[in-house]
Amino acid sequence: MLTIEFDNSYARDLDGMYLPWQGAKVPDPAMVWLNEGLARDLGLDPEALRGPDGLAMLTGSAMPEGAAPLAMAYAGHQFGGFSPQLGDGRALLIGEVIDRTGNRQDIHLKGSGKTPFSRGGDGKAALGPVLREVLIGEAMHALGIPTTRALSAVTTGETVWREVPLTGAVLGRVASSHLRVGTFQFFYARQETARLRRLADYAIARHYPELSGAEDRYLAFYHAVIARQMALVAQWMGVGFVHGVMNTDNCAISGETIDYGPCAFLDAYNPDTVFSSIDRQGRYAYGNQPVLARWNLARLGETLMPLIAPEDPQQALPEVQSALDAAETRYATLRRKKFGAKLGVTMAGDALIDSFLDMLTAQSADFTQAFRALGRAARGDEGPLVAHLNRDPRLADWLDSWRPRLDAVEGMDAVNPVYVPRNHKVEEALNAAQSEDMAPFERLLTALSDPFTRRDGFDDLETPAPEGAGAYVTYCGT
Ligand code: AMP
Ligand code: MG
Repeated sequence: MLTIEFDNSYARDLDGMYLPWQGAKVPDPAMVWLNEGLARDLGLDPEALRGPDGLAMLTGSAMPEGAAPLAMAYAGHQFGGFSPQLGDGRALLIGEVIDRTGNRQDIHLKGSGKTPFSRGGDGKAALGPVLREVLIGEAMHALGIPTTRALSAVTTGETVWREVPLTGAVLGRVASSHLRVGTFQFFYARQETARLRRLADYAIARHYPELSGAEDRYLAFYHAVIARQMALVAQWMGVGFVHGVMNTDNCAISGETIDYGPCAFLDAYNPDTVFSSIDRQGRYAYGNQPVLARWNLARLGETLMPLIAPEDPQQALPEVQSALDAAETRYATLRRKKFGAKLGVTMAGDALIDSFLDMLTAQSADFTQAFRALGRAARGDEGPLVAHLNRDPRLADWLDSWRPRLDAVEGMDAVNPVYVPRNHKVEEALNAAQSEDMAPFERLLTALSDPFTRRDGFDDLETPAPEGAGAYVTYCGT
C-alpha cells in the first residue's frame, strides 16, 4: 500500500491559479530508476513506490489518497518573446509533502499526458531526456548547487514520436516549489492584482517566511529572489553549466535550477558556448547567463510594481531599478568569491580571474580539467596545468602573479570537481539505456554523485570527447 501524508498548500491556497487535472493512463509502466535516498528523505516508502500504486502515481494514471493533482498556470518570455499562456502542458503537480528536514517539497511529474495547457504538444516525454534530467540534476545536487531533483523514471510502454519513435517515460521530480517568474507574469499580464498579491504572499510564506507580514514585504521579496538567483548563476558559472533555456518560465522563485532540457557542461572554455539547437543568436550562451538572469529578474520586478506601489505602480520603478543595479554588483562580488575559491585565492580581483580565463579561451582548454590541474600546481606540480594551457606564453607571468596570492589551497579540490556530466558520456549512457542497458548510466551516476573525489577505474569520465567528435548539440521540447 502506498500511503503518503500530503499537505497540498498550492491547491488549498491558490484556487483559480491552476486546473485540477489527471494524468493519462499508460499501458505498461515499469520503473527504470528510483531515487531511493530521496524517496526516504520525503518519507516515501521505496518498496511501495515500486509497487502498482507507486507506478500508477509516478506515471500520473492513478493517484493515492490525499493527492491533489493539478496543472499550474504560468506565462513566460521565451527567447525574449512573451507568451501569455504556457502552463503545465505535460506536467502535473501531484501534491506536497514535508520532508525529513521539515521542508515543504512538491512531487511533480513530467510527461504525464496532455492538459488544457498543452497547445499542440502530445503531453509526453521520452526516456532519453527523462534520464538526462536525472543525471544532470543529481550531478548539480552533488556539486552543491540548488536544484530540483529527480525522484523516478518510469517507462510507460508507449512509443513517443520525435521524428523517430522513442521509448515513452515519465519523470518524477521534486522541487521546493514550481513557482516561476512566469507564474507572476501570468497574473500580471491579466491585470489580476488580487491574485498576484495572493501569489506573492504565498511565495513569501513558502520561501522567504522571515518577510511575511512586513510592510515592505514585496520589495524585500524582490531583493531576496534576486539574491538567490545571483547566487545560483554564480554557482552555474563556477562549474561551466549552460542552462540553455533561461526563459522566465524556467526561472524558479525558490532559486533552484529548474528544467533540464537543452543544458550541458562546457568542455573547452569559451564564454560564447551555446549547445541548444534553437539558440541561434546565442542569447543563452554561457557568458550571457548573468545578464539574462537579471533580464528575467527585471520581468519579475515589473509584475511586483503593482504590489510595491498599489496607488501608482510607476512609483515603484526607481526601487525596482536600484534592486537590479544592486544585483549586478552582487553578482560581481559572488563571481570574485567563487572564482577566487577556484583559484585558491580568497580575495581574487577580476584581473587575476579574467587573465586566467582568457588563457583558457585562447587555448580551448578544458574548463574542468584546467581548474583541477591548477590545484595540483598550487601544491607544486605545474606539469598538468602547463600541458592543459599548451605552454601559453602568458602562463609564466600569470603564475608569478598568482603564487604569492595563494592562501586557500586546501579548499581548491572541494570547489573544482573531477567529474561533471561530460556530454559524450551522457549520450553514451542514454543510448545504452535506450537498449535497456543501464550499466553505463549507473556508473556515470556513481561518479557524479561524489564529483570532487577521484575514483580508480573512472579515468574515461574525466576527459572531454576525443578531438574530431564535432560540436555537441542539444534539443528543446524533447
Ligand atoms: P519547456 O521548454 O520545457 O520549458 O516548456 C515550455 C512550455 O511548453 C511549457 O508550457 C510546457 O508544458 C510545454 N511543453 C513542452 N513540451 C511539451 C509537450 N511534449 N507537450 C505539451 N506541452 C509541452
Ligand atoms: Mg519549462
